[in-house]
Amino acid sequence: MVEKTKSAKSCAKKSCAKTAAKKEKTVKTLSKKYMEMESKYGAKNYHPLPVVLEKGKGIFVWDVEGKKYYDFLSSYSAVNQGHCHPRIVKALKDQASKLCLTSRAFYNDSLCKFEKYIHGYFGYDRFLPMNTGAEGVETAIKLARRWGAVKKGIPNDKIKVICCDGNFHGRTVTTITLSDDPSSYDNYGPLTPGFIHIPYDDTAALEKALKKYGKEVCGFLVEPIQGEAGIKVPHDGYLKECYDLCHKYNALLIADEVQTGIARTGRLLCSQWDNIRPDIVILGKALGGGVLPVSGCLADDDIILNIKPGEHGSTFGGFPLAAAVAVEALQVVKDEKLTQNAEKMGKIFREEMGKFKSPFIVGVRGRGLLNAVITQPHNGKEAWDICVEMMNNGLLAKPTHKHIIRFAPPLVINEAELRKAIDIIKKSFKALE
Ligand SMILES: *Cc1c(COP(=O)(O)O)cnc(C)c1O
Repeated sequence: MVEKTKSAKSCAKKSCAKTAAKKEKTVKTLSKKYMEMESKYGAKNYHPLPVVLEKGKGIFVWDVEGKKYYDFLSSYSAVNQGHCHPRIVKALKDQASKLCLTSRAFYNDSLCKFEKYIHGYFGYDRFLPMNTGAEGVETAIKLARRWGAVKKGIPNDKIKVICCDGNFHGRTVTTITLSDDPSSYDNYGPLTPGFIHIPYDDTAALEKALKKYGKEVCGFLVEPIQGEAGIKVPHDGYLKECYDLCHKYNALLIADEVQTGIARTGRLLCSQWDNIRPDIVILGKALGGGVLPVSGCLADDDIILNIKPGEHGSTFGGFPLAAAVAVEALQVVKDEKLTQNAEKMGKIFREEMGKFKSPFIVGVRGRGLLNAVITQPHNGKEAWDICVEMMNNGLLAKPTHKHIIRFAPPLVINEAELRKAIDIIKKSFKALE
């Protein structure tokens, strides 16, 4: 819109302004057409902002009318490396023209390289590849339960996993079982047994649960920062305390790093803020470089080798194309120093937004480039209206839980771009005061 207004203004003649107005009308019709099409033929399980995107490059996306936006959602941190990263797209194209899919019935020359590479990258013995984050979580639960049965000797029907209130682990039946948000699990029928819920960021509650059920607990599943809950950052040392407690009671610490992992929080893994090495790490989202769904679990031999041939798998899990993409996606993170950049840019974001006074804002929190601004309604406007205003001003972000706005640009953003984006954010808040 900004650019269009400008071009309309630069037209001195009346007729030119008329043409521009006409153009704007047809242009809007195009977005409308696509939104109506989706509304008519698609399932209605999402409520998107009214913007129709057709192109992306780095930290920017463009809508079908050619308007440019800063992407401050990054597909929920799946696009840490930026949209259509040329190296990742090249890896995709090169592998796609050679071999895409074999299933795991045969070996291929791509998956083994990915497995070796990710072993060196994160320092775990092995990797079990899947596709989506939810499948990664399911796999981690299976690994932990299997370890509990085989190594800890828990009777099969007694095995328990501890999880946290407010979590988000995905949308499969088992992962919605973990959720305490009724809109996630209501009226989806019987859920999966074997889970114990405790409050997040509460080590006393963890110890209590471990004391009570310790002999039957195979693991504690936790997000190092709760993303979907609204970027809830636990107290310093939380994960370390959890790790120590788990080990005291012979249970595994399972870190769901699907959103926090791969440089997002200013560390390669968010667990590294607490200097711990979880027993199982779940990765997803940015592992696919914003190009393909790639997920999986990292673990050492005594855990991961308890699953034997034929006892778990996925037709696409670690397929040659995904493997080639994931290696390049991880290498880009290293080569472009995205971990360091996320930490540096995140500090600037929180400093600037922390100083900014607005009747809407009640708090700013986050780590690295995973940040949230906590809002309250004002003048009858709320977080959604602010997001629409930011959209009109050329920046995309989305509210979570009605009053929290997540700000998580691709990690390739530089300081000048970040400061421009912050200006748009501030301007949008001010416009609605
Ligand atoms: C997004 C997310 C998932 C689920 O990933 P999908 O690819 O959507 O299945 C799981 N855990 C966390 C922490 C996530 O943020």
